Amino acid sequence: MRNPYRPILTKIEKITIENEAKDLKTFRLAFLDEEGLNGFQYECGQFGELTVFGIGECPIGIASSPMDKEYLEFTVKRYPDGLVTNALHNCSVGTTIGVRGPLGNYFPLDRMEGKNLIIIGGGFAFTTLRSTIRYVLHEKNRARFEKITLVYGARSPGELLYKEELGQWQGRDDIETHITVDKGDESWTGKEGFVPAVLKEVAPNPENAIALVCGPPIMLKFTLPVLTELGFGPGEIITSLENRMKCGIGLCGRCNIGSKYICKDGPVFTYEQIEALPAEM
Ligand SMILES: Cc1cc2nc3c(=O)[nH]c(=O)nc-3n(C[C@H](O)[C@H](O)[C@H](O)COP(=O)(O)OP(=O)(O)OC[C@H]3O[C@@H](n4cnc5c(N)ncnc54)[C@H](O)[C@@H]3O)c2cc1C
Repeated sequence: MRNPYRPILTKIEKITIENEAKDLKTFRLAFLDEEGLNGFQYECGQFGELTVFGIGECPIGIASSPMDKEYLEFTVKRYPDGLVTNALHNCSVGTTIGVRGPLGNYFPLDRMEGKNLIIIGGGFAFTTLRSTIRYVLHEKNRARFEKITLVYGARSPGELLYKEELGQWQGRDDIETHITVDKGDESWTGKEGFVPAVLKEVAPNPENAIALVCGPPIMLKFTLPVLTELGFGPGEIITSLENRMKCGIGLCGRCNIGSKYICKDGPVFTYEQIEALPAEM
């Protein structure tokens, strides 16, 4: 059995600066050997512990899709006083990075099959939803899902992630996209408004539908009542939690809420499951 604390070695193949503030970068990592490539079979919604050697490791959601066989992608926000995220942002192409994983549970694609999918994202918590969209839109998978609707928002046009890909999705007729910003600039011709307000306007039908929602706490707080009002039950609303964690494998007890380990039993939960957690949430 592979030692779960031993990172798989990868090399940074590409770095994309995602936003105007330059504090969000997507790292494309290539496995150094076949063992790593074959040992990292993941699902949408899982995360990895990224190691910068000599500094430390931190959990980051996998932004690439399981259909992207040759590489992994992670989009990382740099915190000004964040040890690992700063070190990652200082790395360049060619640097060796460790990855432990894949860790945690994942979006229930088997339950989502045959359903209408409403994908709602805000800010940089969009990463694992991007993985899911890439997966469901893949030519080998698209027929397994019904209508796909995306509502995605950021503070400003410069803060939208994956801009090129968003443009490609907007050009397709098998995904309905509603991209919004809190406040546009002179070049912005798209929608303005907060994600919950846009969702209310779009008013997706809850029948035979599942909603995936990832975003900052304030967005989640106002999105949940809109979904409830539209008729989505708590078992049909799925999110991903980002509690502070260390080991990522349910051993250290850093991230648990009651008997649930966010790293192992999550990070993906339905709102029905979240409602059943002890009040410390
Ligand atoms: C399952 C999971 C998935 C995640 N996915 C992503 C992802 O896709 N992309 C991404 O950028 N981040 C993601 N995160 C958050 C990421 O793990 C943290 O930002 C990271 O651990 C920070 O590490 P650090 O060593 O840079 O900061 P540390 O040195 O550990 O912290 C230094 C300081 O930075 C600030 N800080 C660090 N993390 C956070 C935070 N999450 N919220 C608010 N303030 C914080 C605090 O002020 C803290 O005191 C995820 C977390 C989890 C649990």
